Amino acid sequence: MDFRGLLFPGSATLLALADEMREVRTICHCGKKATMVVRQDAQGGAIKEGAQVQIGGNETYISLCRRHWREAVGR
Ligand SMILES: [Zn+2]
Repeated sequence: MDFRGLLFPGSATLLALADEMREVRTICHCGKKATMVVRQDAQGGAIKEGAQVQIGGNETYISLCRRHWREAVGR
């Protein structure tokens, strides 16, 4: 999923066609499994809107569990 919590266009199709799925585990700062990602600006604030794919910006991406992602993006 992208930083807004939305699927990338090919994600659902890939899941439907895949015979095997290997999960790359990432951990949130609280120790829970990170399933979401937040796009942060240079000041560390969560960016809530914008292009799904953005190349060459100064943003960083932080992996978070669902609870901390919701707190970060206010949803
Ligand atoms: Zn967390």
